Amino acid sequence: MAIDFDKWLIEALIAYPVEDLKQATNDFYSGICRRTGGSNAFGVNGAKEYVVAFVLFDLVKYTCESTNIINSEELRQALTDFNRLVLGGIVRVITGQAGPLEFSDFMDNLLSRVPVITNETWSAGYRIVERRHKWVESQPFAREVYKSSLLDIQADNTHNGAGNNTRSNFEKSSGSSYGNKTCSQDADSNFVRKNEHIGYFEGDIGDYPLYITPKFYITAYACPICGRPLYKTLFHELEQLSTDEGRILVERIFTCENCRAFFASDKYLDSGYYYQRRLNEEDYRVLLGHYDNCGSTSW
Ligand SMILES: [Zn+2]
Repeated sequence: MAIDFDKWLIEALIAYPVEDLKQATNDFYSGICRRTGGSNAFGVNGAKEYVVAFVLFDLVKYTCESTNIINSEELRQALTDFNRLVLGGIVRVITGQAGPLEFSDFMDNLLSRVPVITNETWSAGYRIVERRHKWVESQPFAREVYKSSLLDIQADNTHNGAGNNTRSNFEKSSGSSYGNKTCSQDADSNFVRKNEHIGYFEGDIGDYPLYITPKFYITAYACPICGRPLYKTLFHELEQLSTDEGRILVERIFTCENCRAFFASDKYLDSGYYYQRRLNEEDYRVLLGHYDNCGSTSW
């Protein structure tokens, strides 16, 4: 029996009986609250990602426990490690060490490095929950949460300007293994720091194309200028950007075609700040082509 988590996840999200999924996701959430003493939640949109993560976690756990599906100890260990990281990400939100958008970015990163499922399947899973599992929005784990000021202070302290590519503890826990080479030099200081949070897209993501170029695919983030969904590509080799605060290295870049803008952060897109660059049509196309050329949709 071949392991196909992409197919299994989509099938499970469609076929899972609503009452069972409701019970299971709530039991899992309250179990973590009880064990950790945490009580934070994911917010309405983060809750949808929590449900996708839960179902994936469940599938991986079941697979690891079934000797007739897996007979390689190495694979079992890799999947067990993957699930440990997913659980760690969920725990960090519930205990207030990370916000829901950081969890979203964390899962994107994790799946890029350990492609148990593709990023496209993850996005498809999110859309299924959004359309078929409306009940998620009213669950205890979907309460809106606000980041503690402590977290914001830590985020500021780790950002010391020029060329400082500090990673958050959250990211360290996902076992980053990026190299230090860059795809190209970006000589002009055109990225400007914005001290704002980027939020989730609020409309029907199904109204928008999955890709705008071969390597830029849709995300659940909203453009901070016009509110449409942002598209993202991942860099196998860190991309160097010049900003008004100096050089930064990034693992991914986001874009909005409508605003001809790029968005990036040397931490997470929702770490409380990001860098923005807006261009004229011609320069935008050139740079989009460049990033598309360097970029990837998977690790
Ligand atoms: Zn926009």
